Amino acid sequence: MDVRFVGSYTARSLPPPQLPEIAVGGRSNVGKSSFINCLTGRQGIARVSAEPGRTRTLNFIMCGRSYTLVDLPGYGYSKAPRDQQQRWARDIDSYLTHRENLKGIILIGDIRHFPTESDTEALRWLSGLQRPLLVVLTKADKLGRGSVKSRVSDIAGMLSSMRVRYYVFSAKTGLGRKEIRNWIDRTASG
Ligand code: GDP
Repeated sequence: MDVRFVGSYTARSLPPPQLPEIAVGGRSNVGKSSFINCLTGRQGIARVSAEPGRTRTLNFIMCGRSYTLVDLPGYGYSKAPRDQQQRWARDIDSYLTHRENLKGIILIGDIRHFPTESDTEALRWLSGLQRPLLVVLTKADKLGRGSVKSRVSDIAGMLSSMRVRYYVFSAKTGLGRKEIRNWIDRTASG
């Protein structure tokens, strides 16, 4: 698959809608870049977009001719002033609410800690948008098999009551990658 970094944009200066888009969000440092790198098979593609100055923009990564991944700014970026954080949230909200070719949203959570307070806030917000939503529980390789199972059973009830699907994932081992690619293919073409 031809994977290309398209560019970094603000919600007010987006590229014209072309391919179906899948947005990827999560707390800062949750493993979002590693997820995108692993999923696309292109180490460094999301790191490019995380260069200083690009952490507050929406970074577009084109995956073949099928879809574009839109890497959203990480939330809970605590060093930023509160009013600035609210401005980014408004910007992202406007993109997620109005973008006509946005087909789905992926929320990345750390399987060891999900849902943190900010994850819960994000989940409530995103599930209210009435768009297909997938939760990816990453860093599964950091837990033993038994702990993964017990974390999943803690989390599954809450997500199913919200009708939100999830996959367990590891950027290190590639666990879950195939299933997530399938979800994206289905969602992008839906
Ligand atoms: P981002 O800020 O959300 O883009 O997070 P990064 O992708 O840069 O990851 C933050 C840290 O977590 C880095 O040190 C990664 O190597 C590590 N990391 C991310 N995903 C995984 C994973 O699936 N397994 C393990 N063991 N470490 C991971």
